[in-house]
Amino acid sequence: MASGSTTPRDPYDVLGIARDADETQVKKAFRRLARELHPDVNRHDPEAEEKFKEAAEAYEILSDPERRATFDRYGREGLRSGGWAPRSEGFGSLNDLFDAFFGGGGGFGGGGGARQGGDISVGVQIELGQAATGAAVEVAFEAVAVCEHCHGNGAEPGTPITTCERCGGHGELRAVSRTPFGQVVRAVACDTCGGDGKVAETPCATCSGAGREMVRQTLSVDIPAGIADGQRIRISGRGHAGDPGAPPGDLYVLVRVAAHERLLRDGDDLVTVLDVPAPLAALGATLKTETLDGPFEIDVPAGTQPGETLTLAGKGMPVLQRPGRTGDLRVVINVVIPRRLDREQREIVQRLADSITDENLRSDESMVSKLRRLLHV
Ligand SMILES: [Zn+2]
Ligand SMILES: [Zn+2]
Repeated sequence: MASGSTTPRDPYDVLGIARDADETQVKKAFRRLARELHPDVNRHDPEAEEKFKEAAEAYEILSDPERRATFDRYGREGLRSGGWAPRSEGFGSLNDLFDAFFGGGGGFGGGGGARQGGDISVGVQIELGQAATGAAVEVAFEAVAVCEHCHGNGAEPGTPITTCERCGGHGELRAVSRTPFGQVVRAVACDTCGGDGKVAETPCATCSGAGREMVRQTLSVDIPAGIADGQRIRISGRGHAGDPGAPPGDLYVLVRVAAHERLLRDGDDLVTVLDVPAPLAALGATLKTETLDGPFEIDVPAGTQPGETLTLAGKGMPVLQRPGRTGDLRVVINVVIPRRLDREQREIVQRLADSITDENLRSDESMVSKLRRLLHV
């Protein structure tokens, strides 16, 4: 949207349709809006251009099943971070916008010229350990691919392909149509050859002459060490196949990092909690703490206070795309006061309590600093 300060509206609201509306309803709603906003009707409405852009963006999102699914799950941010931008961006006038959507090849969604293949979005979940070391992960997805049987020309191999008689090989027909905006002459894709200018006498048995087919694919994706939950990896050229001569789209892999039972991620650092019995916190001890590489022995100094943090340098997460740089593991000490003491234990603790002096409790720590430590602020 040109007015960057406003939050874009929900595309379902823009088109005035339900969230479970089918393709036909999406198309219908957009056509209705387009009729209302057509430049011939709206020459004097300065807002028509913005309104049309909004409608066009909503239509682009909801008319493409892949894109719609991404929007439903991750919102506009998901689409943007996947590299998608509305076609309506960068057009100067309402007329140009209408040409972009309805001109050229005619019909909805058909632009002039060979179109690049669509992008594909696929999600993958990994463990925190995999995010730390990097991992090769298999992803499976469906993509439009050139038919292998006919190599995309739509003809059964060995059968002739002839010039389309209906359009004389141009692939286009001039159509005069009566529309709510008046009489419009435009080029539309030839309905016999589908715009190729050529016709297969015997359509390919595999793809029924379409030249392309949906193919289930699997791909091993290298996930770099240090990746964070919600980041996307773009794999150029692994999206849907484009028109002949046009490049394929891209594949976007959305990486979700599963939560670890004992380790919390804080940027490049990891944080864990270590339970230390109160007597050991007083005496000092060597205890096992959890790390990404398994248990690790850590020295808890004598007199360690509740909420104090011990830092294991270099035992955090690697920093994405910066080899050698690694975060720390922060071990927060949880001093555990023993419960349910028996008679003998009570006597021991009572003797300790009786023997404690001001010197044992003295600390240079200010009250504010204590609060910070205990409240982690
Ligand atoms: Zn084929
Ligand atoms: Zn034709």
